[in-house]
Amino acid sequence: MLEIKNLNVEVDGKEILKGLNLSVSGGELHAIMGRNGSGKSTLANVIAGREKYHITSGEILYDGQDLSEMSTEERALAGIFLSFQYPVAIPGVNNTYFLKAAVNVLRKHRGEEEMDAMDFLTFIKKKMKEVEMDESFLRRAVNDGFSGGEKKRNEILQLLTLEPRLAILDETDSGLDIDALKIVAQGVNNFRSKDRAVVVITHYQRILQYLEPDVVHVLMDGRIVRSGGKDLALKVEEKGYSWLEEKEPAV
Ligand code: ADP
Ligand code: MG
Repeated sequence: MLEIKNLNVEVDGKEILKGLNLSVSGGELHAIMGRNGSGKSTLANVIAGREKYHITSGEILYDGQDLSEMSTEERALAGIFLSFQYPVAIPGVNNTYFLKAAVNVLRKHRGEEEMDAMDFLTFIKKKMKEVEMDESFLRRAVNDGFSGGEKKRNEILQLLTLEPRLAILDETDSGLDIDALKIVAQGVNNFRSKDRAVVVITHYQRILQYLEPDVVHVLMDGRIVRSGGKDLALKVEEKGYSWLEEKEPAV
């Protein structure tokens, strides 16, 4: 589904990703771990098509199609979803209307009938139950005045509502207490299916206990230096990252 080959990315003239390779198939969940500043969010942003991230060489293929030729909107319509490390508040824009508009744009694109207000309310309330979000959040503005944990839960609500094919979750687990973490993980697990792929960016092994990743990668200085199973995440948690620096990069 996602094939990243020798990707080099520049932000404001600074080279951040330096020859990154990653291959994700439908049904899989990949975890990407790495120190602060290693380039994790840059990777997420360049896949989503954020403007100031420039690919200087290499390519990102999604279903065999070159993503660099697609706008952010086209990528979203094609089923790519990014949950932000720092979700943005949109004062004045109601959470329900926002989600309903997004869902209907997607449905229209897929040639499906748009949902009316009644149907959408039934649909969204069911999704909110999955992430144990109170219905009062439907009346609030998008992320406006939400606590850190509530914002992250709202990101997962967006994930469950928009039903993308490729979900990239940038530190959705950070700042969550253990109960919220379990709920978020449950949301991700409910989302998983054989046609969908998830890339979870995280600092901590904690959320991976509840997610069963197929592959764990370590990103260091703009490249994936090590890939392995769940045990790699445990080892990183125990020993930190420096032991990986001495060795030759392995793909
Ligand atoms: P991570 O998510 O792994 O913590 P990021 O992808 O956010 O890392 O950042 C990787 C590096 O890119 C950091 O050193 C950061 O300071 C740098 N960076 C990000 N944005 C810019 C920018 N606009 N100009 C210069 N450097 C940037
Ligand atoms: Mg980051």
